[in-house]
Amino acid sequence: MVVTITSYNPADPADLVVAVEEPGAEAVRAAVARARAVQPGWLAAGAGARSAALGRIAEAVEAHADELAGLIVREVGKPLAEARGEVARTAAIWRYYAQAPFAPSGAVHETAAGPGLLLTRRRPYGVAGLIAPWNFPLAIPTWKAAPALAVGNTAVLKPAPEATACALRLAELAAGAGLPEDVFTVLPGGAEEGAALVDTADVVSFTGSTGVGRAVVRAATERGVPVQAELGGLNAALVLPDADLAQAAAHLAAAIAGYAGQKCTATSRVIAVGAAYEPLRDALVKALELVDDTACGPVINAAARDRLTAAVDSAVAAGATLLTGGRAPERDGWYLEPALLTDVPAEHPLAREEFFGPVALLHAAADLDEAIALANDTPHSLSTSVHTRSLDVALAAADRLDAGMIRVNAPSSGVDFHLPFGGAKGASHGEREQGQAALDFYTVSRTVSVLPGGGA
Ligand code: NAD
Repeated sequence: MVVTITSYNPADPADLVVAVEEPGAEAVRAAVARARAVQPGWLAAGAGARSAALGRIAEAVEAHADELAGLIVREVGKPLAEARGEVARTAAIWRYYAQAPFAPSGAVHETAAGPGLLLTRRRPYGVAGLIAPWNFPLAIPTWKAAPALAVGNTAVLKPAPEATACALRLAELAAGAGLPEDVFTVLPGGAEEGAALVDTADVVSFTGSTGVGRAVVRAATERGVPVQAELGGLNAALVLPDADLAQAAAHLAAAIAGYAGQKCTATSRVIAVGAAYEPLRDALVKALELVDDTACGPVINAAARDRLTAAVDSAVAAGATLLTGGRAPERDGWYLEPALLTDVPAEHPLAREEFFGPVALLHAAADLDEAIALANDTPHSLSTSVHTRSLDVALAAADRLDAGMIRVNAPSSGVDFHLPFGGAKGASHGEREQGQAALDFYTVSRTVSVLPGGGA
């Protein structure tokens, strides 16, 4: 039976963006074998050739910026301004890692005694198996592929089915920019292809939901190959009474409802400390009610919207108060009004799991200690924001919050591509992505001892 992968426009579900035949596990194994065959040549081509190729991909992305932004909007429903930002960031990431081939790949050490040379040298693993989610359909494939390729691995990427067209276009642009055949392969697919990639690659990088990520980590670890997994977040925002509450409310509305809350770093729990509670609640309700399609957009599909509305309804049935939103408007597309709830019971799934939509809970905390305890009361600790004018509070929060990213007076949802990125506790496994950390992840260090041959 031929299985087809389809991806539809979330704003206009009658619009089929792409349909491709599912390649199956055997095709994944064949792609990895081809990638393995060309990897020594890609490494031997040298730093100059790899740097130039990555630089040309950056140029190709820039040259097609409008088309790519339009495709992101159409395929995953991202608002245009954010889609343009993602394309610019994609080009910047290729360009940033285009410099990496020239960076030092090790260090020289003195021998403990006698003549000789001791050195470390980082080498690529071979074929990087990359598994991506749909929500950043160009940036995430890029922040995995670019560092992997820069240091001499070849790469096979399996995108999320919902982002198939974006990933295939990226592969076309890379090929058009002169990347040699089989150095970077995009193979569409679902769970079967993803599992086959984890079973065959020499190093695995996964981004996606917590349940799938844990299975990927187990499978890769069982095979003894290095694996990193960046997973879901249940991100908190702490608002202190001394904060600029208007600015905090604007940042929170962006972090809750921007791209319909479909960022792993979106805020889903707002913790207002002491006297901040009432004014923040009122300002945030207003700010969320002002959010429009240019900032929010639809959620990815019907199942996601139904899951969100059902969760809001069940929280209200369990005693929560809906302060705003939470309804699906009568219109085409998978839209949901951004929602803010309070008094959600602590054991309700909305308070414990990532729902990946424009929905947040508002909590009151008596003081900073209680706020930090509430923020830390989750295994899904990716990004936490803190809104305050007090340096002491900012420093205490930076020290005591469990999250992998701590952002003071900024939305939880921003990311700098040149710094390490990842979560704490159950939100992350293995080395960080992005920045120098990614170059370390895709290489392993060798220790080389060079001693005199004698007789000279
Ligand atoms: P998902 O877990 O459903 O899918 C992620 C990828 O895994 C897809 O390519 C999918 O096809 C593949 N997959 C599914 N089953 C598999 C299996 N058994 N073996 C191997 N691969 C398999 O996630 P999604 O819905 O595409 O993306 C949304 C999720 O991604 C959210 O949970 C979000 O928080 C998370 N995310 C995390 C980060 C981060 O850096 N922490 C960034 C973006 C998104």
